[in-house]
Amino acid sequence: MSDSKLIDPFGRKIDYLRISVTDRCDFRCTYCMDEDATFLPRRDILSLEEIVQVATSFVALGTRKIRITGGEPLVRKDILFALKQIAALPGLDELTITTNGSQLEKMGQQLFDAGVSRINISLDTLKRERFEELTRRDKLDQVLRGIKTVSALPFKQLKLNAVILGGHNDDEIEDLVEFALAHKMDISFIEEMPLGQISHHDRAKVYISSDELLERLQQRWHLSLSERSTGGPSRYYDIAGESQQVGFISPHSHNFCSTCNRVRLTAEGRLLLCLGNEHSKDLKSVLRTHPDDADLLQQSIIDSLVLKPEKHHFNLDEEPQILRFMSATGG
Ligand code: SAM
Ligand code: SF4
Repeated sequence: MSDSKLIDPFGRKIDYLRISVTDRCDFRCTYCMDEDATFLPRRDILSLEEIVQVATSFVALGTRKIRITGGEPLVRKDILFALKQIAALPGLDELTITTNGSQLEKMGQQLFDAGVSRINISLDTLKRERFEELTRRDKLDQVLRGIKTVSALPFKQLKLNAVILGGHNDDEIEDLVEFALAHKMDISFIEEMPLGQISHHDRAKVYISSDELLERLQQRWHLSLSERSTGGPSRYYDIAGESQQVGFISPHSHNFCSTCNRVRLTAEGRLLLCLGNEHSKDLKSVLRTHPDDADLLQQSIIDSLVLKPEKHHFNLDEEPQILRFMSATGG
């Protein structure tokens, strides 16, 4: 149990921060953003120094794990500068990143040297044409080379994340598990979430539940529910005869709010208390009006916790209630 000083009105201890360092990306995944997505003006994005200041305050308040995400975090200029400083914060147990993999061939070693211990890599398909259809970029080979690079480095854990859309890539779940096992990686299958309005597909029509995927995988592997808990939406299964695990992130079919231990910092410096609600605190204005006041920043973070809602509701039959995209939020 952590000694976090951040406790919300429902008694949940917050010891995990996810930081979106940019809303920009070199891909345009169909479930995440449209081709002509608009991005925030640069002045509205937190500087790397401001990001490090927020991370420092969180760690001082008892946060033990920080995940860097985006947008694509590795396209942010000088990101290694921020990663090194965050990884070195006394008290932080883990610095992890979520990436689309496009920069890993180039940056894998530098990430390891900077102190990143775990990497989640998004990979929804192993088929080149389908990859281009899903990400709107012809970069599967580049991503596969990146995976090869990081697989050869001594990271504590590597995991694949695959968003599964019925009729688009659900026929590949077995191949994706095989691929993960061959690379000594865990893999998680993610149910699509209704974040932001997209034009590519009707989210309700491509919905496929984690339980359906689990049932299919059980025909091939012996899977047993693991003890491992992240306090998040993931459920993990051990695979008989393997040291890797398969996970399911199921915002629709399995509500995980009661054990939620996390908050998110958006690229524009909003502290978001829940992925599925808009409750937030504007930390950028605190940082920019009182740039050197670490006490005020910490107090603002503590005060914001009263805003954390008890749970989220995602409903695919309704218009999206959450207009921000995952890329701006730090998925
Ligand atoms: N660009 C990086 C990447 O793709 O890994 C990091 C940011 S991305 C927003 C983080 C994760 O969110 C990815 O695994 C992506 O597949 C997932 N994601 C994006 N939009 C989503 C949605 N609408 N529903 C579920 N997962 C989504
Ligand atoms: Fe970019 Fe990640 Fe969104 Fe894909 S899921 S468009 S890689 S931010």
